[in-house]
Amino acid sequence: MAIDKTAVIGFPVDHSLSPIIHNHWIKELALDIKPYEKLNVDPNMFEEQMNNLKAEGFGGINVTVPLKELAFNISDETSNVSKKLRSANTLTLSSDKINADNTDAVGFINSLDKKIIEENITNKKTLVLGAGGSARSVVHALNELGSQVRLFNRTPEKASILLNDLSINSSPVSTEELDDYANSSSFIVNTTSLGQKEGECNNILSFENIGVETFIYDLIYNPKRSSFLEQAEAKGLKVQNGLRMLIEQAACSFQIWHEIKVSVSDELMSLLEGV
Ligand code: NAP
Repeated sequence: MAIDKTAVIGFPVDHSLSPIIHNHWIKELALDIKPYEKLNVDPNMFEEQMNNLKAEGFGGINVTVPLKELAFNISDETSNVSKKLRSANTLTLSSDKINADNTDAVGFINSLDKKIIEENITNKKTLVLGAGGSARSVVHALNELGSQVRLFNRTPEKASILLNDLSINSSPVSTEELDDYANSSSFIVNTTSLGQKEGECNNILSFENIGVETFIYDLIYNPKRSSFLEQAEAKGLKVQNGLRMLIEQAACSFQIWHEIKVSVSDELMSLLEGV
């Protein structure tokens, strides 16, 4: 049975595209439930505001920055992946408990073409830039796909903590070895927020000697073509932005709540590309 009241919470949450995605499916399937909302929740009042949402009848809550860890901490039952990442982006609220899940890692996997997984990821060297919340999901996903994943972050200590938390037997890539490691990687993914602001350039990597077969992914979807992807495209490399991942993680949340498997249509992709 579908859950009547759903929303995304964040701080700030104003730019979230989740309402467009969920409401597209609610309309497409003619579900007799309330429109999906977006709500600002102050991290300093998290527990109190979660109780208010419960009292207002919300049954499904997506969680975005900076609340994913808090959401994990207040949950009564947590999925294996949520436990592993110590973070939750999908909460299911009932009268007596909160269930937590995290659909970011599976959303990332589902966003990838099978051919890219086979040819560029499994048993191949991959490189993740960044060690924030999204890097956790991406590193976990690449490890699950059987890749030899390594990590570079501006603050190396955070990269070491992430690898240790996820029990991944690899060391952070140092600044000195970054370009060489990138040149020997088959798949490189930017999970830093660098390049999200207008006019900001992500120059963490030199694309000078990166192999033509290397696949370049940026989690950023706004702008559609980040400076990272533009540099890669200028070198003739294949690229992908984070829009598909955003939709795929939403599809997994939708299925958890409403028990309906939705498809990611071209119509939805173009709707979001036009925003
Ligand atoms: P986060 O937890 O705040 O982590 C930010 C990361 O970016 C950290 O590793 C940080 O390095 C690095 N960074 C920030 N500014 C930098 C700079 N000037 N130079 C080098 N590194 C810098 O953020 P997040 O939640 O992981 O999100 C990161 C990006 O992914 C955002 O743009 C977000 O919109 C996007 N995202 C997309 C999806 C999707 O579905 N497509 C999902 C989640 C996130 P330090 O550790 O050194 O500070």
